[in-house]
Amino acid sequence: MRPVIKSNKLDTVCYDIRGPVHKEARRLEDEGHRILKLNIGNPAPFGFEAPEEIVRDVILNLPSAQGYCESKGLFSARKAIVQHYQSQGIRSVDIDDIYIGNGVSELILMALQGLLNTGDEVLIPAPDYPLWTASAHLAGGKAIHYRCDEESDWFPDLDDIRSKITPRTRALVMINPNNPTGAVYSRELILEIIEICRQHDLILFADEIYDKILYDGAQHIPAASLSEDILTVTFNGLSKAYRAAGFRVGWMMLTGNLKDARSYIEGLDMLASMRLCANVPNQHAIQTALGGYQSINELVLPLGRLAQQRDTCYELLNSIPGVSCKKPKGALYAFPKLDTKKFNIRDDEKLVLDLLNEKKILLVQGTAFNWPEPDHLRVVFLPWKEDLQKAMTEFGSFLETYQQ
Ligand code: PLP
Repeated sequence: MRPVIKSNKLDTVCYDIRGPVHKEARRLEDEGHRILKLNIGNPAPFGFEAPEEIVRDVILNLPSAQGYCESKGLFSARKAIVQHYQSQGIRSVDIDDIYIGNGVSELILMALQGLLNTGDEVLIPAPDYPLWTASAHLAGGKAIHYRCDEESDWFPDLDDIRSKITPRTRALVMINPNNPTGAVYSRELILEIIEICRQHDLILFADEIYDKILYDGAQHIPAASLSEDILTVTFNGLSKAYRAAGFRVGWMMLTGNLKDARSYIEGLDMLASMRLCANVPNQHAIQTALGGYQSINELVLPLGRLAQQRDTCYELLNSIPGVSCKKPKGALYAFPKLDTKKFNIRDDEKLVLDLLNEKKILLVQGTAFNWPEPDHLRVVFLPWKEDLQKAMTEFGSFLETYQQ
């Protein structure tokens, strides 16, 4: 048989969170090693279980959820999503403007697949959640990275955004609260981003999957609540705040100028019907998840488990010589900076591999998030405090003698 070669569409696609380092970790596990994993934002395995009522809902509805549903999703679930956003001050949202997917991931792929022609550009933050970049490239487009500024609370550099807009720019991606930096954007900043979209006729993709994971009284402002004219696609789901990443439930909502987006919407409708529909039983969790008591709120209070782990991670990282870290205001991650001169680091993937092999601790290198320099890492603070303490102590002792 001829060698089976992957399609050249994948030549520019990269997704390193589950890349070579992740594979090496699996190899070590197969050999019997225990790996301390601070690499993936998957809450449930760390004891952050999904609210019992949503699990119960899925079980109760399972017998009646055997068939396909409408491509955009169950009516009751979409209705609950509409009401949820209406209560946040987003008025002009209709049930037909909601698409439910198998996680936000599927919808990111669809949203870009439906929009981009070959060579079209999308402004994506650096660092980013790399699925955005990978999906833009898979769709034949080009990810153009704008810089987020560590010295300004990791806020996007607006001048950098403006300088990178070309006639091919179609959309701007904003991730708020941010993975991997933990930044939570101010109203003023979001308004400025919206103004850029307005001036340059760009779609705003607002990835707000961490909207309820906020510390120190930080407030999340949905981008869609700040404009009625900009075509805004808001993404959210059950994976993070509801700790049900395995359910694979996400949604996207279109607001703003839908009148001029009829063709794009037709494309999205077609893509949604091509994959028939999202997992039906798990859509039953949405209505219950969004209404009433929100258990995530307790976890992010100052004495809540998640907030405590955020504090531990932040303090211990900053206590390591040659490491500095901004305090995450939201989400599940810290993105510390390494003194590359001190450690002579030129390759952050090698650093992460060396740490894995020597200490059996798994982090993700900053360049996997399309950060251009090898001077950052992402640390997930989902593991228990004792595990985080162990990991950070070991990381510190690893760095004491580390040189590349
Ligand atoms: N967007 C961001 C910013 C994320 O961090 C993630 C997952 O980590 C996703 C989207 C994908 O989420 P889902 O599990 O809904 O596919």
